[in-house]
Amino acid sequence: MFSVAIDGPAGAGKSTLAKAAAAKLGFIYIDTGALYRTVTYAVKAGGVDIEDESAFKRLLASIKIELEFIDGVQHVFLNGKDVSELIRTPEISASVSIVSAVPMCREFFLDFQRSLADKYNAIMDGRDIGTVVLPNAQVKIFLTASPEVRADRRYKELLEKGHEVTYEEVLDSVIKRDDRDSNRETAPLKPADDAVLLDTSNLNFEESLEEIIKLIRG
Ligand code: C5P
Repeated sequence: MFSVAIDGPAGAGKSTLAKAAAAKLGFIYIDTGALYRTVTYAVKAGGVDIEDESAFKRLLASIKIELEFIDGVQHVFLNGKDVSELIRTPEISASVSIVSAVPMCREFFLDFQRSLADKYNAIMDGRDIGTVVLPNAQVKIFLTASPEVRADRRYKELLEKGHEVTYEEVLDSVIKRDDRDSNRETAPLKPADDAVLLDTSNLNFEESLEEIIKLIRG
């Protein structure tokens, strides 16, 4: 199978670009952030204290997280319930990087992510895909943009969905999340040694997509 790893900080455009590139190439698009967001949702719903290792372990053992690809779009299910939209709130975004830093949580998804890449030609996006999950991916892209550009994109997305947020709040949240993701001990956010860096600060969507397709075809 052919695997493309796209990593990078929050709001770099990974998901929109990976989705479009996958549609163009007939690959499936796997959004791994949805897995960590779903655990975070379960932690909050269950009132679990993640500092309590055995409580967190019990939670992980008791939940079932599944991905389904419906018309090429990934849906994530928690214990049979489609939570794809419920996991995209500012509240989940604010705590997901705390939950995802727990080694037990990362271990929980490792084989699952690899098994998907064994089954499908896939573009997988995340933070540690090129470094940890799929170190042998044929193409590795590290997508980035300035924090202000990324926050502005996120801010507009959230407004469109009807969330009440300010640009400053979104910028603050993006910076905090990147900081936690980059500085955690297990599988931190960083480019793989063999990743191509792509800064989209001054590229529009079409230009970024063209670059990505070029890198994959090349
Ligand atoms: O991609 P998205 O912004 O939805 O990811 C949410 C969070 O999930 C990230 O901020 C990070 O803490 C975590 N994540 C991760 N490893 C991945 C994908 C996401 O730690 N491969």
